[in-house]
Amino acid sequence: MLSELPIKRIPLPTPFPVGDINSYLIISDPLTIIDPGPCYQPSEDLLYRFLKESGVELKDIKRIVITHGHADHYGMAGKIQRETGAEVLVRDREVEKLELTPGYIENKRRIMLTTGISGETLDMDGLYRGDVPFTHPIDKIKTYSGDCLLGFDNFEIRLLHTPGHSGGHTSLFWEEMGVLFSGDLLLPEITAIALIEYDPREKNLRCRSLAHMLKSMELVGAINPSLCLPGHGDPVSGPAALARSRIDFHKVRLDEIYSIVPMGRENAADPCSLSRVYYPNVKDLDIILAVIEVVAHLDYLADEGRIEEYIDEKGVSLFYRRLQ
Ligand SMILES: [Zn+2]
Repeated sequence: MLSELPIKRIPLPTPFPVGDINSYLIISDPLTIIDPGPCYQPSEDLLYRFLKESGVELKDIKRIVITHGHADHYGMAGKIQRETGAEVLVRDREVEKLELTPGYIENKRRIMLTTGISGETLDMDGLYRGDVPFTHPIDKIKTYSGDCLLGFDNFEIRLLHTPGHSGGHTSLFWEEMGVLFSGDLLLPEITAIALIEYDPREKNLRCRSLAHMLKSMELVGAINPSLCLPGHGDPVSGPAALARSRIDFHKVRLDEIYSIVPMGRENAADPCSLSRVYYPNVKDLDIILAVIEVVAHLDYLADEGRIEEYIDEKGVSLFYRRLQ
């Protein structure tokens, strides 16, 4: 159980629809915080108060580990680093999300345009203009790749690459104790979205985020932790069953999305219009998330050979089912 481990869960409020985010403090040497939450006053106040009440001084934080480059998880990292000099650790693949390099924003935008969504719609979402509120610049980022070990005084925690929700998403596995910090890979109350990104090897292609996510879920089944400490929501015991149910959920969704793909090349449709069929009531900017969800499944279906894809003269993907 969590209370027997040198781990504190700190649920922090966020200004985002997802609600609270869990920050975790590992009370060992070096004192480490996983996902310090957004740079948002109520969250910051609560974090500092929690540390104080736990008898921890802010200056004692030596290391900040970020599971992935989303503002609700990493926003405070730069501020804490400025105040403490703590090391900020991020998987190499996620760094551009934290630094918001112009190339990154450009690629993010370009890859979304392959779904048939309009540039005007993307412009309404600050994320596609490089505007990421509730974050603080991070002066110095230390990167890593692969599945490396995070050393503590008398134990080690493995940094597992678990892509899907984000290309460089990391889960932390304390094998000896059977504890998995799952970030946004596995959440008890919601199914994390497989966000599309460009393929780092071929920037004009979408990376296969759903395939990556299902593989990451399989990994949870294979390592079979006894306790999962997610990025949002309560701890989950025996998370392999939850991972299995998430895989099953996507299998059903794959069949549903397959059923709305038109028959015949002449009727081929882009992911944006298919998302309006799959989510007929979607409003405003939620269309962006709807398109992402649908295209991630379409790519998976195309890779399985169940549907066909071709790219039109504007670079937009069109999908169809072969006539029998
Ligand atoms: Zn996230």
